[in-house]
Amino acid sequence: MPAMMGKAKTQQQLINNLQIEFEKDYISTICIYDSAVPCLSWENNSFGSFREYVKSFYIQESTFAWYNLIWHTKSVLQFSICSWMAVMERLKTADELLKHNITVPSICGLCHCAPESVSHLFFECSYSFSIITHI
Ligand SMILES: [Zn+2]
Repeated sequence: MPAMMGKAKTQQQLINNLQIEFEKDYISTICIYDSAVPCLSWENNSFGSFREYVKSFYIQESTFAWYNLIWHTKSVLQFSICSWMAVMERLKTADELLKHNITVPSICGLCHCAPESVSHLFFECSYSFSIITHI
């Protein structure tokens, strides 16, 4: 039986190697830049830059009113990321952890008065409010 498993594994490795070789051959045929033939380029700009690519990639994305408050040139990256995660409701607060069946106390660890959530920690918690007002 192990010989069969070894044979199947060898066949799978052969298939994987053939696929890799095929992808290498296919990718090598794609012309990166040649204005005479169809090629990969940024839309409407064959001398594209990364900035132009990002701009065209996100052109159909909607903008958010809070975007400039969080992402600006003078922001500290870790604070921007924390704010962004709070807005997107992705901070690991007790309510989010409980949604993923992670057992944690649901009550706020700071004030012990209400269920812990992003809105509670940032806008309702008396303990966090007292800290923020003393900074
Ligand atoms: Zn609290």
